Amino acid sequence: MRTVDPYVVDRDVFKRFPQKNICFSRARWDKDFIAYGRGIYDRAESKMERGLKGYTREDYAAMSAAWSVHDTLPRSRGLRLGGSLSTFTPVSKPAESQADPKKNSEFIKRFAKGLGAADVGTTSLNLDWVYSHDVEGNPLDLKESVRHAIVFLVPMDQKMLAESPRVPASAAVGLAYSKCRTISESVARCVAQLGYEAYPAVNELALSVPLAIDAGLGEFARNGLLVSDVHGMAVRIGKVLTDMPLQQDPPANLGVREFCARCKRCAEKCPPKVISFDDEPSGKTFSVSNNPGITKWYVNVDRCYEFWCNNGTDCSNCVTSCPFTKPDTWSHRLARSIIRRTALLNGLFLRLDRFYH
Ligand code: SF4
Ligand code: SF4
Repeated sequence: MRTVDPYVVDRDVFKRFPQKNICFSRARWDKDFIAYGRGIYDRAESKMERGLKGYTREDYAAMSAAWSVHDTLPRSRGLRLGGSLSTFTPVSKPAESQADPKKNSEFIKRFAKGLGAADVGTTSLNLDWVYSHDVEGNPLDLKESVRHAIVFLVPMDQKMLAESPRVPASAAVGLAYSKCRTISESVARCVAQLGYEAYPAVNELALSVPLAIDAGLGEFARNGLLVSDVHGMAVRIGKVLTDMPLQQDPPANLGVREFCARCKRCAEKCPPKVISFDDEPSGKTFSVSNNPGITKWYVNVDRCYEFWCNNGTDCSNCVTSCPFTKPDTWSHRLARSIIRRTALLNGLFLRLDRFYH
């Protein structure tokens, strides 16, 4: 069985990442940003007028509706826009029976799965992944007691995603984010009812990919996203940060790093070619939107965002082209279980994937 080394951090370089350095935020304040002043839907109207397939008024309407829950839940909106750090205040003191991390983790996983999460993990909260500042640049300090995270995955509809980079794929993304929002809000409410602090979040508060890795939900990939076991990259991540005692889940062991070293499919299919073709992760960064100090493949996210603006919506080409993003059939289950154990057949699997897809 392979051993897992999720990521290597250079302590002389690494600092906590300020959320205001993400591209969406830099488009508002960073005059040196290649897409300063541009939003990803600025070209939507002209795309609709041209009546292009996948860019119709109906496509945009459905996509907007898909995002609506994510964008409008009031408490989350405060967090998303960088308002005051909001928490669900505990409604009572925790019962003694709640001190058992294993019992808490099992209960909360069952509950989150009942709400629609495909997979749920629990982990100690590594403060490296908590944003140093929110999107408005305000320092983000969690209560010292909040040192655990519940992390969950919501799958995206792979048929809709296959339309990428057209608008129906963006609707699949929005639907999954909306579901993440409702699950994180409900899980946080439940945790608070049991007597603990709970900070619900989707992309706010902390970097979701390393948190999901810590919670044993997958591994990082060449394009910077998470590869999960069953759904590959076709997932979105939600989380709740809390002081509830929770158990540490073991790391996932999927063989993604070795597979990515040979694969490079996402880099080939990326329209602006902003994903690295290097065999091994170099740690080379491109702008302040990359957080340096981690041995991984960094993506030129500035030019990714610029492509989204030109495209009139977001893009999921790297997600859909990934050989790990496949329906959960017996043949893909078999391939995944072999890749987990050995890298010897990776070349064969890659050739088969190219032949069939
Ligand atoms: S989202 Fe699209 S543009 Fe951005 S890295 Fe992935 S494939 Fe490239
Ligand atoms: S497409 Fe290939 S290189 Fe890209 S993330 Fe998936 S496995 Fe890795």
